[in-house]
Amino acid sequence: MKTQVAIVGGGPGGTASAMFLRELGIQSVIIEKETFPRYRIGESMTGECGAIVRELGLEDRMLKDKHPIKRGLTVYGAGAKNSWFVPVMARTEDGKLVEEFTWQVRRSKFDQMLLEEAIARGAELVQGQATEVLTNGNGGVRGVRVRMADGGMQDIKAEVVLDCSGMATFLANHGVTGPKYRGNYDRQIAIFSQVVGAIRDEGPHRDDTLILYRRKNHWSWFIPLDEEVVSVGVVVPAAYFAEKKESKRDFLVRELHDLNPELKRRIPEVKLVEEVRSVVNYSYQVRQFAGPGFICIGDAHRFVDPVFSFGLYVTMKEAQFAAQAVKDYLEGGNRDQPNPFAQHIKLVEDGYDAVEDVVDAFWEHPLAFAAFTHVRYRDEVIDMLSGRVYGMDEPPRVLKAMRKLLKRDRSMDDGISRPLGSSYTPAA
Ligand SMILES: Cc1cc2nc3c(=O)[nH]c(=O)nc-3n(C[C@H](O)[C@H](O)[C@H](O)COP(=O)(O)OP(=O)(O)OC[C@H]3O[C@@H](n4cnc5c(N)ncnc54)[C@H](O)[C@@H]3O)c2cc1C
Repeated sequence: MKTQVAIVGGGPGGTASAMFLRELGIQSVIIEKETFPRYRIGESMTGECGAIVRELGLEDRMLKDKHPIKRGLTVYGAGAKNSWFVPVMARTEDGKLVEEFTWQVRRSKFDQMLLEEAIARGAELVQGQATEVLTNGNGGVRGVRVRMADGGMQDIKAEVVLDCSGMATFLANHGVTGPKYRGNYDRQIAIFSQVVGAIRDEGPHRDDTLILYRRKNHWSWFIPLDEEVVSVGVVVPAAYFAEKKESKRDFLVRELHDLNPELKRRIPEVKLVEEVRSVVNYSYQVRQFAGPGFICIGDAHRFVDPVFSFGLYVTMKEAQFAAQAVKDYLEGGNRDQPNPFAQHIKLVEDGYDAVEDVVDAFWEHPLAFAAFTHVRYRDEVIDMLSGRVYGMDEPPRVLKAMRKLLKRDRSMDDGISRPLGSSYTPAA
């Protein structure tokens, strides 16, 4: 089988890639190993993620499907002694901040909708698991070998492979990219489920995201998924979870009452309506994640920490950037360069560095961060948490202030992200 672009993974990264490629007249095949609908964590969108969904022409569908409307994010400090709110706002063309909303999504439903939409727009779906990378002998990627649902093998030859396999990091695991490094939050565990009967605010902020803080790297999320159900998750150092010697379920139920009084008030009785699941070691970064014939998208090359819900946005935005980079490549652009996607890498890394610095500043300097959101840099914090982190000529003042607090210098010019000041170590 031959196509212009083979996409490994039919999650939001893969389907957004297929749709953006299609808009540019490029044919793609999506290879997906699971049968949809399938469960995924990652349910709260940033403001700019909503903007991408709108750019894909899916706003009416989102409203019809009744995904809860998110207008902002409230963080409750330790002991619920204080709290701060950051609204979802858009920037107009003349630079004004205006009210906007985004969505919370039950991923099984949202991801299936995206996959159906990508197929309806012309992408082909191959149900199977990519197991090997096909190369052209000079290290260039030319496709993938797939174990089909019926057990047979099929080669899919392509001019470009987009790795949208999420945390499975398909190309990194096959040694195509540079090394994979552990991130700052790799010794964390997230344990999560869904509850009914939770108390929500009345009015327009009923379906907002709540973040509840206990101490550094110990927190919880509260994300409404429909009229009845709220997604809840507790994120802690893995060592803390191990010390407790509890089942995941017992741990979650107890933490939902111990972690923060505001969480206990909102969930007076814990009635779980979903399996209790977990994710560990989710923080990493892959070097040289794009090269001749391949680009890794979103989680397939980097993930920091879920606290401010950047994952879906980053993955869908990178899909949009990658579609343009692929178009240029197919038309012969930068083929004489050692890395034809060097500019794409720089654009994406600069944006992700900003995300990482915002997240690190929150964990390392929570009081300063809260002060920034209230007074000093309110508008810029709104921009950052919405996801306006790409293509900035100059870092905004708030990002400079955060980097100063972190004693971190990002002023490199070779396009390689250097997480100075963080605890990155090469993977064993
Ligand atoms: C605890 C936690 C909480 C999070 N909360 C949020 C949040 O609130 N908001 C947010 O925006 N993000 C959140 N995220 C991040 C979010 O889950 C991810 O960023 C998002 O799912 C990435 O989408 P994706 O399409 O890149 O990958 P995925 O959604 O993981 O999709 C990848 C797809 O690839 C398929 N696949 C993998 N390997 C192969 C293969 N070899 N062959 C064929 N198919 C393959 C998989 O079956 C899967 O369907 C959270 C993450 C964690 C860990």
